[in-house]
Amino acid sequence: MILTEAALAGLIAEALARHGMSARNAVLVAAVVAAAERDGAASHGLLRMPGYIATLKSGWVDGTAEPVVERPAPAIVMVDARNGFAQVAHAAAREAGLAAVREAGMAAICIRDSHHFAALWPDVEPFAEQGLVALTVVNTRSRIVVWGGKRKVLGTNPMAFACPRADAPPFVWDQASSLRAQGEVLLARTEGHRVPEGVGLDAAGKPTTDPAAILDGGALLPFGGHKGAGIAFMIEVLAAALTGGRFGFQDESAKFPGAQTSNAGQFLLLIDPARSAGDAFAGRVSALVAALREAGSERLPGEARQRRREQALRDGIVVPDAAYQRLLAMTQE
Ligand code: NDP
Repeated sequence: MILTEAALAGLIAEALARHGMSARNAVLVAAVVAAAERDGAASHGLLRMPGYIATLKSGWVDGTAEPVVERPAPAIVMVDARNGFAQVAHAAAREAGLAAVREAGMAAICIRDSHHFAALWPDVEPFAEQGLVALTVVNTRSRIVVWGGKRKVLGTNPMAFACPRADAPPFVWDQASSLRAQGEVLLARTEGHRVPEGVGLDAAGKPTTDPAAILDGGALLPFGGHKGAGIAFMIEVLAAALTGGRFGFQDESAKFPGAQTSNAGQFLLLIDPARSAGDAFAGRVSALVAALREAGSERLPGEARQRRREQALRDGIVVPDAAYQRLLAMTQE
C-alpha cells in the first residue's frame, strides 16, 4: 500500500482510540508513529503498534491522561504527564516552553510520570525549525549493564539534539545510550538476523549476537563502554531525578502483564541562540557542517532520514501489505 502521511496517521489514531486512548491523545501519538514510518525509522514506526496496544490494554498507561503544566520559575516548565504518553505532555507544555524561552532566553521543560515509546527527533526538530537550539533526554526502565555491574540499573536512555542551519533544514541527531536501541534489537529478532558483537549479553551475562537472548532476560551494553555509561547516568539524573520521574530501576510494569513502555521522565532544554550569538548562529552552524564535508564526511546524522522523508512526501509512504492488514485489524478488533 502507498499512503499519505495523513492517511496513515488517521488509521493509527483510529487503532489507538479503539484500544482506550482519547481521540485527542490518539491523534498526538499517531503523528509520531506515522512520522517514523515516513522517515523510514522502522524501529519506532508501525513495529511499535502492538506494544502501544498491549500497554494500553494492560492498564499500565492512561490513554486518556490530561497533563498538568506549571511554571514555577521564569525558565522552568514542570509537566505532570499523569501516567500518559509523552507526546501528549509535549503538546500541553509547548506554549509555556516557548513563552519561557522567548522571555528568559532559555527554558527547561521537566516532564514526569510519562511514557515515551517513540524516537526522540520529533521532540526537538520542530523547535529548531523555529530557530531554537533544543536538547532532550529520556530515561527508560533498566536495560543496560554498566561499569562492571551484574544487573541492569540504567535504561537505554536516548538523547536528541537539534539546531537551525542557514539555508538547510535543522541539523538533528538522535540516539540511544546503548550501542543499539532496544527497538533495533526487536527489529533484528522480528526480521530473523543477528546483531553485531558488543550490543548485548545473554541471561548468563555472556556476550551474544542473538537478539532473542538479549531480549529474553539478557541486557544491552552502553555505546563507548564506560564513557557511554556516564552519559546514561547523566540522563537518568536529568530525566528522572530533576523532573520527579521514576528511575528505571523503580519500574513496576511487571505488575501489568503486556506492558511494554517505561513510566519515567523527560528533560528538554530550549535555548534561543539569538540571545547569545545574535543573527550569526545559523550561518556558523552551516560553516561547521561545510568544514566537515570538506574533511570528507559524506553522511551527517539526520541526512539519511531527511532523504527518506523527501521521497515519502513526494511518492507516498510504502506500507507492506502484511503491516497494512495488521493495522486495519487493530482498528477493528
Ligand atoms: P542510530 O545509531 O541508528 O543513529 C544515531 C544517530 O546517528 C542518528 O541521528 C543517525 O542519523 C546517525 N547516524 C547513523 N549512522 C550514521 C552514519 N553512518 N554516519 C553518520 N550518522 C549516522 O540510533 P540508535 O539505534 O541509537 O537509536 C534509534 C532510535 O531509538 C532513536 O530514534 C532513539 O530516539 C530511539 N530510542 C527511543 C527510546 C525511548 O525510550 N523512547 C529508547 C532508546 C532509543 P539518521 O537518522 O539520519 O540515520
